[in-house]
Amino acid sequence: MKVKRLKHSKRVLSFYEKNFSFRKPYNVLVDGTFCQAALKGKVDILLQVGKYLGGEINVATTHCVLRECFQLGPTLSGAHKILKKFKRHKCGHENAALDAASCMSAMVGGGNVEHYIIATQDTELRKQLRAITGIPLLYLSACTLFLESPSYESRDIARRVSSNRTYSLTTRRKL
Ligand SMILES: [Zn+2]
Repeated sequence: MKVKRLKHSKRVLSFYEKNFSFRKPYNVLVDGTFCQAALKGKVDILLQVGKYLGGEINVATTHCVLRECFQLGPTLSGAHKILKKFKRHKCGHENAALDAASCMSAMVGGGNVEHYIIATQDTELRKQLRAITGIPLLYLSACTLFLESPSYESRDIARRVSSNRTYSLTTRRKL
């Protein structure tokens, strides 16, 4: 793995650690599209994502993701097999399943309290999640893992929070 790529992921992760309290081991939430791409590109998710993100990760999925993947039939049966190996985090839709993308969105709704890194090839979902702050996005591009740089929204909120922090420190000093 190229040093430059590792430096990039380290930089992105330290942004999320500093501004959104992400800590190791990172929680990576995967969907069927990501598993399918990993299978196609012969990427061992636990091993390679772990290496790319600096070692310690928990990989999980949800009931809805598994269900949708299973329903899509033989084309995604390989991805379904991979998904089944991961922990299933409770999404709260066990009785009335959502489509995978809506479920992933719901898992990071309300401020991404579980600090999930979302691993998906779904461009529409990634676009939607970029608008919400504090959600690292991971995907495979030509069989290579890539952690997106923080979105404008995430950088903007981090900038505002840190300028507030400076402001309150200066005010406190003056008092
Ligand atoms: Zn769900």
